[in-house]
Amino acid sequence: MDPLDTRFADCLHYATHRRRTGEPFETAIFNTTIYALPGEPQGAYQYVEDAETLIFPSGMAAVASVLYSQLRPGDQVLLPSDGYYTVRTAAEKFLAPFGVRLRTCPTAAVEREPLDGLKIVWVETPSNPGLDLADLRAVAQRAHAAGALLVVDNTTMTPIGQRPLELGADVVVSSDTKGVNGHSDALFGHVASRNAEVMAGVRDWRRICGAIPGAFETWLVQRGLDTLELRFSRMCDNAQQLAERLIQHPKVRAVRYPGLTSHPAHALARSQMRRFGALIGITLADAGAAERFIDGCRYVRSATSFGGVHSSAERRARWGEAVADGYVRFSVGCEPPGTLWRDVERALEAVGS
Ligand SMILES: *Cc1c(COP(=O)(O)O)cnc(C)c1O
Repeated sequence: MDPLDTRFADCLHYATHRRRTGEPFETAIFNTTIYALPGEPQGAYQYVEDAETLIFPSGMAAVASVLYSQLRPGDQVLLPSDGYYTVRTAAEKFLAPFGVRLRTCPTAAVEREPLDGLKIVWVETPSNPGLDLADLRAVAQRAHAAGALLVVDNTTMTPIGQRPLELGADVVVSSDTKGVNGHSDALFGHVASRNAEVMAGVRDWRRICGAIPGAFETWLVQRGLDTLELRFSRMCDNAQQLAERLIQHPKVRAVRYPGLTSHPAHALARSQMRRFGALIGITLADAGAAERFIDGCRYVRSATSFGGVHSSAERRARWGEAVADGYVRFSVGCEPPGTLWRDVERALEAVGS
């Protein structure tokens, strides 16, 4: 039995177990800004991360809390050149003017990148949208030897699919707007770490700068968490099946998915990921073919986010990202697998040659 299954089951029942007769099982929204706090103030929230966790009103608020609480003028941070671009924009626009130095490197190259002089090594694996991997154990070791913190943006994998803290990362950040909430109806984020000093800084930033999530969003995400393990398992199973079929399809030029043996880092994926994720990169002939494919699918929404229960897809080059014109990032949802494949196959046939 996977010992993490106990944690996932505990998480599912955490808020509502041992109700007394007549008590409602489901969680209420308390419109309160103050809480009873007699005696010594203490206690920490653990979430599914198995580490102290702080929640935020968006993924970017979580990202910002780490960057702004940890970096000082003169410090250097290494960011992925092929990761979520707003993280780089935030650092360029707001940190660089205060004297924080930025370096970037591609995710697949971070293992060979010199890490001396860095305060933070920031990694997103698989990278998005290219789905390249970085070896978290190796990077953690090298970052620590250089005196740097390893921060992992685990948004695409969720704590079900990959557990960076167990692989040596110091901090995990996540946009829970995506898979963790999973219903595309709330912005949310979290930061988790076992490093008390880091968490003290993040907590101070959150409180003093006011990045506090609202009660309704928190309630929505808590509800999303109840089905996270179930949803993410279905999504990853669907993605694996779809990737294996897509790679055989004559209209498809290339398929990127960490669960395929053809992925250049498949062996690494096996050793550090619990699941291979719900994102697939599909390269079609050109921009037109990609657009016709997305439009032609009945069960795939044309949208820029990912990680929801509904499959969605987008041609990433429309944002100017360094991918082929016909590259589609496909976020696989919870549809029944056979139906989803037949829909995708039909849309591919209709793309034309
Ligand atoms: C979406 C996303 C974010 C930002 O999250 P928001 O909740 O939209 O603020 C950060 N990192 C990654 C990898 C993301 O995909």
